[in-house]
Amino acid sequence: MYVYNVNYQMILNSMHYFLSLTRLERINFFLFGFAIFCITLSFIFNIQSNISSSIIKPISIEIPFSQINYNEDLDEESENAIETISDAQFLSNEYSYTVQKGDSLIKILSEIGFNSSNVYSISTQINKLYDVSNIYVGQDIKFLFSSKDGGKIKIGDLPDNFTIHIDSKIIDGIYNPSKNNYDLKLLKQTINSRSKLVKGYAREGLYNSAVSQGASPGIVMEYIKMLSDEVNFKRDVKTDSEFKILFDYNETSEGKKVSNGNILYAYLSINNKKYEIYQYKDSKGNISYYYGDGRNLKSALLSKPIKNARISSGFGMRIHPISKRRTLHKGVDYAARTGTPILAAGNGVVQVVRYGAGYGKYLAIKHNHRYSTLYAHMSKFKPGIKRGIAVKQGQVIGYVGSTGNSTGAHLHYEIRQYGKPINPIKVKPLISNPLAGEKLVAFNNQKKRINGTLHKENKIMLAKNNSSQK
Ligand SMILES: [Zn+2]
Repeated sequence: MYVYNVNYQMILNSMHYFLSLTRLERINFFLFGFAIFCITLSFIFNIQSNISSSIIKPISIEIPFSQINYNEDLDEESENAIETISDAQFLSNEYSYTVQKGDSLIKILSEIGFNSSNVYSISTQINKLYDVSNIYVGQDIKFLFSSKDGGKIKIGDLPDNFTIHIDSKIIDGIYNPSKNNYDLKLLKQTINSRSKLVKGYAREGLYNSAVSQGASPGIVMEYIKMLSDEVNFKRDVKTDSEFKILFDYNETSEGKKVSNGNILYAYLSINNKKYEIYQYKDSKGNISYYYGDGRNLKSALLSKPIKNARISSGFGMRIHPISKRRTLHKGVDYAARTGTPILAAGNGVVQVVRYGAGYGKYLAIKHNHRYSTLYAHMSKFKPGIKRGIAVKQGQVIGYVGSTGNSTGAHLHYEIRQYGKPINPIKVKPLISNPLAGEKLVAFNNQKKRINGTLHKENKIMLAKNNSSQK
């Protein structure tokens, strides 16, 4: 309160003091005052930007789907992307939504990017096709979007077609221009698994070539991600570099694609060096990837970048412990002693090292085009960890603390996919040990089968090319 109390005697004293100063001293006095003013201003601004970022609002950010830029400089723009929470806005052709407490169909649909009249119509129609009372917290609802030409959907544009996967149900939505809305129907559920090979040379543009042959943008991004630890796409990939992607997908008996599937085999050749990666599906159906000899891929993110810690708060909607407001908790909190080392979740480049009002001392790492991770409330950064520095998985980057909006020593950890926070716990455990024993036998069998499919697909492609040349 006393801050706002005007004390006239104090002002008179200050004026008297001021008049007694020399000219140089007065200039210094003003400069000092101005500096204090600027610092105050930047603080207010920082707090405000933190408040506004906690409100979910659609911000369109540049996502390099249409123009994959292998040379993403760590500029301000990409730095902003990492710091803003944004809606999906049809960035990807495939979108998986995990139902949170308090969600409604309307909320989910608008969060994805449908406009309000679509949202109302779509949810009404879904209600007729599916018993929405079956939807539960933690359930994954998958959305697949496509445009008429089968290509990418521009940010801000509505898809011409989409499918929603809830439980085993698949609902198909087709844009009806006369209504300026969508017609929904339940799809027949005879689903067949198919596989497809896309291949070519980097000179044709790896991304565009793969997509034009029928790979989804998600598959191509996955391919790049798989190799991005070993390969610097900007520096190493030359025009004569050959790529192959074999992937599976599901379609209905009517030939309608209902899922983009997964990569079965990825190949890239660079200057006499060949990279061959195979899918491995374990007995539970979990998918991981290995080099042909059973070595595991290093490109992975740790879901727990700290040792000796327990989860004190999970991902999702919650009442904020300080603001007491209902907000999206964008990460996972790991309670640990002050000073506990924090590890880089994966290989990457440090993108942000800063002291923020909310996050306190925080650091962000960009791992690849798709993933970045953020670590907040640190007591201190590891000396030498600066913006632009490359880090390896498991390397110490800082230490647990309680700086910023924090009630006790903990690490707030976020994983962001295309700038949007996702649940670190739900990210597939990409890290896996080299295969051995029974697993290696199973892998070799699967590899054989994949090679068989590859051979078959290759023949189909050759036959097609030959007939088109006649
Ligand atoms: Zn947190």
